[in-house]
Amino acid sequence: MRVLLLFIDGIGIGERDTMKNPFARFPSPFFSFFKNEPLPNLPFAGVVIPTRADMEVAGLPQSASGQTAIFTGQNAAQALGHHQSGLPTPTLRKLLDESSLFKSVRALAKTGVFANALSQDYFENRGARISATTRALLAGGFPWLNMDDLRAGRAVSHDLTNEFLRQMGFDVPVRTPAASAKILAEICRRADFTLFEFILTDMYGHNQEMSQAEEIVRRLEVLLNVVLREVDLREMTVVLTSDHGNFEDLSVKTHTSNLVPTCVWGAGQKIFVERVKRLEDIAGGIIAALQEAT
Ligand SMILES: [Zn+2]
Repeated sequence: MRVLLLFIDGIGIGERDTMKNPFARFPSPFFSFFKNEPLPNLPFAGVVIPTRADMEVAGLPQSASGQTAIFTGQNAAQALGHHQSGLPTPTLRKLLDESSLFKSVRALAKTGVFANALSQDYFENRGARISATTRALLAGGFPWLNMDDLRAGRAVSHDLTNEFLRQMGFDVPVRTPAASAKILAEICRRADFTLFEFILTDMYGHNQEMSQAEEIVRRLEVLLNVVLREVDLREMTVVLTSDHGNFEDLSVKTHTSNLVPTCVWGAGQKIFVERVKRLEDIAGGIIAALQEAT
């Protein structure tokens, strides 16, 4: 079966506190999970699996180590001895190069795609300073989607509107979140494994701006509504997960130690329910689902 992984940076399972948690203040049936409450059933028969992001290493979970764990299935924080923020360090790069999920997809003779468009400048000016997602993709030897793909409606941007790229000076059209979500659904119908990365949740979590957080919740709601309506869940698994908490508690500037939600819809749901307890379990679930016939 096919798998779509929606990687949403920095969302955890927080308290039902409208002063702190945008998911409590601006309720959505997709994000109706709260700490110390029974787990909800999600729209489109989805389930939420509370997932440990700490890798049994002290300190607050961070992006580079958390994302490396998701995209390799390895305990990246233990390999380093600490949680690592920002971009992958040499140790994490090695893990990504050796054990990338995209590399496993390639080994199964399946196709993988990172739906987010990347610019030529991104590679030319950054050298090794690329994100864990991009490094994981390149380790599998799959091509990246570029600005032409974005303009032609064959790729999306992380914010689902292209506004971020336009502010950076790229000549790309504005799209509604619904239009971008429809493009994402098209992309994942053609590949065995599709990855999408959304990072505004982590940015707004650090900014602590409750006034802007509602727009983010609504954008994610549109993404899920459109994608889950468009794809055939009888032959497809859609997984949403995160690397650490942040957005669910705007009372602090930092990440949180909360569990993260792994939400699963479609044909491979049982595989994930049975095996996912920690971030490092997700990659194995995806590989198992890809190998399952539908
Ligand atoms: Zn962060």
